[in-house]
Amino acid sequence: MTFIKDRRGAGPLLTRRTFGLLAGAGAASLALPSYLRAQDKPRVVVIGGGAGGATAARYLAKDSDGALDVTLINNTETYTTCFFSNIYLGGYRDLQSITHGYDALVSQYGINKVTGTAVAIDRDAKTVRLEDGTDIAYDRLVVAPGIDIIYDSIAGYSEEAAETAPHAWKGGPQTEILKTRLDALEDGQNIVMVTPPNPYRCPPGPYERVSMMAHVLKAKGYTQSKIFVLDPKETFSKQALFQEGWETHYPGMVEWYGPDVIGEIAGVDVAAGAVETGFDTFEGALLNIIPAQRAGAIAIQADLVNETGFCPIDAASMKSSADENIYVIGDASIAGDMPKSGFSANSQAKVAAMNIRAELTGSNAFPARYANTCWSLIETDDGVKVGAQYEPAEGKITATSTFVSQPGETAELRKETYEESVVWYDSMIADTFGITA
Ligand SMILES: Cc1cc2nc3c(=O)[nH]c(=O)nc-3n(C[C@H](O)[C@H](O)[C@H](O)COP(=O)(O)OP(=O)(O)OC[C@H]3O[C@@H](n4cnc5c(N)ncnc54)[C@H](O)[C@@H]3O)c2cc1C
Repeated sequence: MTFIKDRRGAGPLLTRRTFGLLAGAGAASLALPSYLRAQDKPRVVVIGGGAGGATAARYLAKDSDGALDVTLINNTETYTTCFFSNIYLGGYRDLQSITHGYDALVSQYGINKVTGTAVAIDRDAKTVRLEDGTDIAYDRLVVAPGIDIIYDSIAGYSEEAAETAPHAWKGGPQTEILKTRLDALEDGQNIVMVTPPNPYRCPPGPYERVSMMAHVLKAKGYTQSKIFVLDPKETFSKQALFQEGWETHYPGMVEWYGPDVIGEIAGVDVAAGAVETGFDTFEGALLNIIPAQRAGAIAIQADLVNETGFCPIDAASMKSSADENIYVIGDASIAGDMPKSGFSANSQAKVAAMNIRAELTGSNAFPARYANTCWSLIETDDGVKVGAQYEPAEGKITATSTFVSQPGETAELRKETYEESVVWYDSMIADTFGITA
């Protein structure tokens, strides 16, 4: 099979055209699994078993009551959530508690779970090709691959460099590397974090991470250490709340610099532990480099993205603007006012599943309603949140009401806000994977 290299450096990809030419040459095995056998039921294939994809698969299977044949393709056996990975980093949870399997989706909902990587979508033939050459046919396809990291958006950074200077912006091994390196720091050693430009996964995530790293250092009495936050953005999510919290809980430990002070991020030298900016060179024993992002590679292979690197959708249904048989949900989509979050992905998944069922089984589709809340923990029991309700309006998903925590709230309210987030996490996992977290 001929692969071409994605010009943005994210690995080998088939283009839509080359895959079209090759389709049909794929070798299906003789003992066919259920998702390859001819059948009467409409087939829905979901690429990506994360917050968006797993929820979509579960709702498609559950609400269609066996009328749909649902296949979920994910490239790992288990899924480690990015949500609550900062809580893990802060030492409040272990990795196992944020890692979940797909067994219930298979045994309770009859979903075909395929562990493998989707390398190409043939939109004309309506098939998904796996890396082993297997083609899986669909009537409707849900594309939910999350984000890919654009490594070369920061000079000197690469996939290899991320082994030493982790981004930890995808769940699993990267999160563990960051935790190990954080726990190994000694008093007086510094951290340098580079935050991503918009749009990116989880707007408050970098700043919650700063808080959790400061919490770990402070808990050990390492108050001589500093965290330098180098930001390409003038402002950031929940800024007043984070900055108030850093002053209150971690005085002198966090220094945030926006582009008006540091100019551009000129490059990173991982071996030297240095980040160069237009203003100065920042050195740290730990570098946490979070580059720019785009939709997962499969969305690009299938020409579902526009010039932003993400996928335009119909705000009323999450259907791709590029293909009437494909829905794009979660971080890979351009979801108007909705931030890229697990909560958003879960909400979008239900709208997509409802519309797919309506198309394939004739069930009712109701007007789309979306919701999101992003909680962040600043220090033990000091939780804050921001969120909104959304509806389609004027061609995009539009916020209809919003809320955000306020500076100076009581300790009691902040504790309640944190506890709310723990309840959310458990219900989110139950809703996504059909299990008790
Ligand atoms: C540090 C951090 C903290 C966060 N905290 C929160 C929070 O508190 N609340 C919140 O709501 N959100 C939070 N988020 C954001 C949240 O994790 C993402 O927005 C969410 O996971 C997006 O869901 P998704 O389904 O689009 O992508 P993902 O959850 O990334 O799922 C995509 C899945 O598809 C797989 N995949 C990709 N390509 C392929 C392919 N070609 N073939 C097969 N499988 C493939 C991936 O491996 C992955 O399993 C946080 C993120 C980070 C980084």
